[in-house]
Amino acid sequence: MSSSTVITNIAALVTNDPSLGDHSPLGLVRDAAVVIEGDRVAWTGESSKAPATDNRVDAGGRAVLPGFVDSHSHLLFAGDRTEEFNARMSGRPYSAGGIRTTVAATRAASDAELEAGLTRYLAEALRQGTTTFETKSGYGLTTADESRALRVAARHTDEVTFLGAHIVAPELADDPAAYVDLVTGEMLDACAPHARWIDVFCEKGAFDGDQARAILTAGRAKGLHPRIHANQLSYGPGVRLAVELDAASADHCTHLTDADVDALASSRTVATLLPGAEFSTRAQWPDARRLIDAGATVALSTDCNPGSSFTSSVPFCIALAVRDMGMTPDEAVWAATAGGAAALRRDDVGRLTPGAYADLTLLDAPSHVHLAYRPGVPLVAGVWRRGVRRV
Ligand SMILES: [Zn+2]
Repeated sequence: MSSSTVITNIAALVTNDPSLGDHSPLGLVRDAAVVIEGDRVAWTGESSKAPATDNRVDAGGRAVLPGFVDSHSHLLFAGDRTEEFNARMSGRPYSAGGIRTTVAATRAASDAELEAGLTRYLAEALRQGTTTFETKSGYGLTTADESRALRVAARHTDEVTFLGAHIVAPELADDPAAYVDLVTGEMLDACAPHARWIDVFCEKGAFDGDQARAILTAGRAKGLHPRIHANQLSYGPGVRLAVELDAASADHCTHLTDADVDALASSRTVATLLPGAEFSTRAQWPDARRLIDAGATVALSTDCNPGSSFTSSVPFCIALAVRDMGMTPDEAVWAATAGGAAALRRDDVGRLTPGAYADLTLLDAPSHVHLAYRPGVPLVAGVWRRGVRRV
């Protein structure tokens, strides 16, 4: 039997189980404790009722919440786009074409360089409380470069996404149909064994609705489950296609018609909002309030990538969502934990209840609200992943 540890003297514990504590969606328990056994949560409740354990950690009257579930990142890349960011902040708009810069650098990088970058950004994310992350290919755009990115990613996470359809590969820019044939044929065959998900950037300048449907349908036939970059830069068919195909998530959701919002609200497709992208491109914020009020499930994620959102910080995204997207602090914390889990169709992360993975974050603050109340402050004081303290 593995040893047990109680983390006790927690002023405010976010469980994401509405049957606990204050019965809000966060299931907030005051004066709480969590018992970890092996890699799982064994017990959650009031400190005074905690069972006996082998080890004891005193949280010192601070807040504990589930580790963040970052359900959207692009961490397999090489190169640097500081100049592009600098130029954009001097007034030039972002377009999907900037991805080509990263494609050239990524193709030129060794496997070891790609993995070193990934490892660095994962360590950065862990220090900020992220314990589950999804990441994608999409900067290789050849069969060999896409499949090796996925192989590297699969050494670090189960949530690997094949995004061969990020943009049309530069060498096939004049023949997008040939590139769609490649993505749905030889490239898919090579990539499917290393991925759980398939994704498409459905956008003007990337892939239209018909191309996106063909790519996602081909992926599904190979056992991959769809998710879509949808409605980021303009109105379009992405969100409705996501719902039609039962995608786990439609990501970005910045430009939505009422029909798009209704479609999301009446489906189990999660609307994943990525405010780091709007921040880093000075773009219009997605309207989280409208989605939540309509009944859609909302997740918050970083979209960490070198072009349009070079942040690995979920706390930063929470602060933006509260300040500029109409979310309450409770809603933003839920979206970055349970919401991210829903966007990955997981129920073993994003909550602190018996049976879930013991992935949790201790804040140097008395409440989870401080994540929005104290933006930019490094509040994460401890991180347990799979029952082991890592930070
Ligand atoms: Zn993205």
